[in-house]
This record gives sequence, structure tokens and C-alpha cells, in this order.
Amino acid sequence: MNSKIWLSSPHIGTNELNYVNEAFDTNWIAPLGPHVNAFEQALQEQTQTKHAAALTSGTSALHLALILLGVKTSDTVFCQSITFSASANPIAYQGAIPVFIDSEEDTWNMDPVLLRSALEEAKQNGKLPKAIIPVHLYGMPAKMDEILKIAKEYSVPVIEDAAEALGSSINNKPCGSFGEFGVLSFNGNKIITTSGGGALLSENAEMIEKARFLATQARDSAPHYQHSHIGYNYRMSNVLAGIGRGQLEVLNDRVAARRNNFERYKQYFSKHNNAGFNIQFQEEPDGYHSNRWLTCILVDPINNKGITREIIRLEFETENIEARPLWKPMHQQPVFASSKSFLNGVSDKLFENGLCLPSGSNLTEEEFERIFDCLDKIFAKYN
Ligand SMILES: *Cc1c(COP(=O)(O)O)cnc(C)c1O
Repeated sequence: MNSKIWLSSPHIGTNELNYVNEAFDTNWIAPLGPHVNAFEQALQEQTQTKHAAALTSGTSALHLALILLGVKTSDTVFCQSITFSASANPIAYQGAIPVFIDSEEDTWNMDPVLLRSALEEAKQNGKLPKAIIPVHLYGMPAKMDEILKIAKEYSVPVIEDAAEALGSSINNKPCGSFGEFGVLSFNGNKIITTSGGGALLSENAEMIEKARFLATQARDSAPHYQHSHIGYNYRMSNVLAGIGRGQLEVLNDRVAARRNNFERYKQYFSKHNNAGFNIQFQEEPDGYHSNRWLTCILVDPINNKGITREIIRLEFETENIEARPLWKPMHQQPVFASSKSFLNGVSDKLFENGLCLPSGSNLTEEEFERIFDCLDKIFAKYN
């Protein structure tokens, strides 16, 4: 059996282990320490935000953002429907009610038109949401200008789920810096990793200070253990922050490699598209810069002589190549079956026809050849 080609595997640089060794040598093996502070500083610079709190995960960052915005039982929160479940789960942690918003076709992210109708309806019903969570899917920025403008009209804060979009930007403004809060993830499959980790970003110093307080069990300032708030154990370890420092140093290289993957796939498929197929991509609108975390294609069988994304995925599977359908929209998930949603058919279609291709920044020439050989076989069969 050929070795496995992963969708997106960790890609460690040169300095990570030096920082980890430094943590060991100085005995800073705790959810605080010099690497945590330095990593936060570096994240602020990278994302052009004033304040960052390094946390255990993107999920915990989203959870704290909701808590800081005062989201409580039976409040509503608007969330992009097509996303990873971690965007929506923290809404449920708070006992709040998610309302799912469909996507537009350009970026595949939250549709500003639907967002406006959902907000208008909520206003008529006298119950505006406590927050709006757009997502930058696969690194492609959502239409933040429009989303922020509409959110402002209704005075609802935006939590920007930039878990997949570190290194992406709109007109050179980094993803993660648009909302009241920005959320990053450093899970093992993301563009850079700390094995597991996340961060909460904001311009608001007080909010980030509060996030750090809540993330370390909400201890009041007293020599004994005293608590006036419910706390969480959400702070990033100094060891992992060391990995994060090294990974941030190579972020630009990782983005370049992933963008190069996208170009290679695009060039490969153009050969078939010129021969009567029609494989589609997530394209960057003017001024948009995607980190191209994952290269995704849309395979509509009607325009591709019967080829479906499942045909490709299963053929890959026999060759030990990992590919995955796009995120299954939250409004289709059994766990959110009773949730309200505002739909236009776009995310259903994306899920039906969408496939994420192997996209690691460490893909080798040999691996690309195996992927293209496998695809060649499929296209030849359906030609
Ligand atoms: C990965 C991811 C998260 C969660 O991040 P974790 O660090 O895994 O908790 C949230 N939202 C999106 C869109 C993600 O892809």
C-alpha cells in the first residue's frame, strides 16, 4: 500500500523545538510563561490587532467571546450554517439558541442579504441576536465590509471565526481583525499548529484581560482561592506557545505553499475543463487574499459527464489519498434539527458537490503525481 496522503498534516519548521527546549530548560511547563506572552505579542502583530489571548483551542476562544458578550440562556446567536460544528457548539454551551444563515456563492460564506432579512425579522419580533458569527471558510474571507455594515445598523456585535484564515486578508487587513472579536485555531490540521490551541483577538483591552481571567479559573485577587465568577481552564500552555512561536515564523512560507497547491490544482483541472468538463473553485473577489488552507472543488455531475465528488473521493480512498466533502451545513445536522435557519440553497449545493483536496503545505512532488494520476484515470473513464 502506498503511504497515506493527508488532507492537511502538521508541518513543523526549524525553531519550534528550540522554543520547546527553552521551556523545559527554564521549567516553564504551565499555562503561563514567557512563550505565552511572546506568542500573543506575535499574534497581535500578525493580525494587526491590539490584544490577543492564547487559549487551549479555537472552540474555547469562541466560548469566551460569547460569555464576554453576555450571551445567556435563550438568547439567540446567528451563525454561518456551512462551517465546522465548533463554530456553533459554544452557542449551545451557553444554553443559547443558534440561528443558521446560508452563504453567498462568491466566497461560500455568510450571505449579507440573508443576514439582513434575518436581522430584520428578529427586530420585528423584538428579539435581536446577541452576536453574529461569520466564518472564513477554507481561508476565504467572508464579505466582511457588508456584514459589518449590516451588523452595525442593528447594533449586533460580530465574532469573526477566523479559525481557518490566519494569513488571509481583505485589502491587506488581516482576517481576525474585523469583528468585535476574532477567533483563531492552531489545531493539528490548521495552517499552523500548536498541536492544539487557539486565540481570542480584540481591540478591547478590558475584554481580553477578562478573557484571560475567565480562562484561568476566574480567581479573584486574594491570597486564598476566592471566586466571584464561574471560571474555565482555557489558557494555552507555555510549552505549546513555544511551538506556536516557531510556527508563526514560517506562516508566510506555509501560506505561499498552500496558495501554490491551489494554483497547481487549478492548472491541472484547466486541462480537463478545456476538454468539456467544468470543475469549479472558490475564487478570490478583488482585494481578497485567501491563505488557501484547503483547496476545494465543486463537481456538479450535470456539467462533468456524470462525475460526482463521491466518485473522486472513493477513488482517492482506494489509493490511500484523503479527501473530504465540504463541511456539512449546521442546518442539516441532526443535533441542530430543531434550529431555525435562513436558507437560499447555496450551502446545500456546496455540500452536495464540494470536495476538499489534499492541501498540506508539505505535499511532495511525488504525492502530487499520485493525486493527478488518480484523477487522470477518473477523467479518462468518464470522457
Ligand atoms: C477548527 C475550527 C474551529 C475550532 O477550533 P479548535 O481549535 O479545533 O477548537 C472553529 N471554527 C472553525 C471554522 C474551524 O475550522
